[in-house]
Amino acid sequence: MKSGRVPWRPKARVAMPYDRPGTLDDALALLARGPRTLLAGGTDLYPATAAQTLDGAILDLAGLGELGGIARTAAGLRIGAGATWAEVREAALPPACDALRAAAGAVGGRQIQNAGTVGGNLCNASPAADGVPPLLALDAGVELASPAGRRRLPLAGFLLGPRRTDRREGEILVAIHVPAKALAGRSAFLKLGARRHLVISIAMVAVRLVVADGRVAGAALAVGACGPVAVRLPALEARLCGRAAGAGLAGAIDDAGVAAGLAPIDDVRADARTRAGAAAELLRRAVAGLVAA
Ligand SMILES: Cc1cc2nc3c(=O)[nH]c(=O)nc-3n(C[C@H](O)[C@H](O)[C@H](O)COP(=O)(O)OP(=O)(O)OC[C@H]3O[C@@H](n4cnc5c(N)ncnc54)[C@H](O)[C@@H]3O)c2cc1C
Repeated sequence: MKSGRVPWRPKARVAMPYDRPGTLDDALALLARGPRTLLAGGTDLYPATAAQTLDGAILDLAGLGELGGIARTAAGLRIGAGATWAEVREAALPPACDALRAAAGAVGGRQIQNAGTVGGNLCNASPAADGVPPLLALDAGVELASPAGRRRLPLAGFLLGPRRTDRREGEILVAIHVPAKALAGRSAFLKLGARRHLVISIAMVAVRLVVADGRVAGAALAVGACGPVAVRLPALEARLCGRAAGAGLAGAIDDAGVAAGLAPIDDVRADARTRAGAAAELLRRAVAGLVAA
């Protein structure tokens, strides 16, 4: 005779929707049915949760070929939102992108660079995101897709504040675009942290200089981790333009001029004054390095 006892079974797990579509159209259709957490490399999402798994409905973007690749186009350069930092680091890009490639090699360690994506770095919108200053210095724009179509906007307009972007409900970041004219010149990226590697930036800078006939014909200076979002410093850029691209150029960058364009905070990593001073010194070193090379 059978016992009346009910055999033990593990508690049923509530299966949260997890989807890994193969096309952007399928991903957008799933997203249109209701909010989902978009998962790319997961290197920001996973550390942000104390749990062993991600909560809620997940839309894994890893299967979307449309988000991949780094390619020269007639209009300039297209970087897929799903391109990893390792891909950027190893890509054959013009010298104007040296800052971006250097930043790619400074995002975490090799494992993080293998998984973490450019799109994730931008959409996570950390003030200390190392990918942002090099892309600002390249006048980059972002392309977002939704069932209603596509729209583009400048990266500077996409990033609204710490963890805040202009990404609307139902949109997926598809690509980052660099216009052809911003691929001129050479660039450098410098980052200050409490140690050399695997560190959140106290300040980081990207500088792109275009030199013609020994003079600065164009300058792009971008600073991160010194305000709610990374910024360009247009007043200093204008000051550099037209000057001789020689040893004295870095001297045109003064602490007060840099601080005027920033809004740093005090936190556990550094106080605001240290941050602004560090940014000015990093800018001078980046400029000096570019004109000396
Ligand atoms: C140990 C460690 C070290 C790190 N070091 C650095 C560092 O030195 N510098 C630095 O900048 N960062 C660092 N990071 C943070 C992280 O690795 C990067 O920001 C990375 O680029 C995030 O990309 P991801 O693909 O992993 O994003 P995910 O974690 O998958 O996603 C991040 C956010 O972006 C959203 N998202 C992702 N892709 C899209 C898309 N295509 N469209 C819309 N939304 C999207 C997600 O929903 C989520 O909100 C580090 C992380 C770790 C764990």
